[in-house]
Amino acid sequence: MHSRPPHETTLVSSHPTSDGLVSYLRCECGAWEVRTSTMVVSTSPRPSAASR
Ligand SMILES: [Zn+2]
Repeated sequence: MHSRPPHETTLVSSHPTSDGLVSYLRCECGAWEVRTSTMVVSTSPRPSAASR
């Protein structure tokens, strides 16, 4: 079994909130990652939307 390498994300912006710092990161493949002090949420790039 291969384990995929993580997305190579670049920090786009970060905002301090009442729950702590929330950071938005984006990968070259179009995926987004949102990191908070308590969790990390990854979104996959949409298959057919906004292809440039
Ligand atoms: Zn990626």
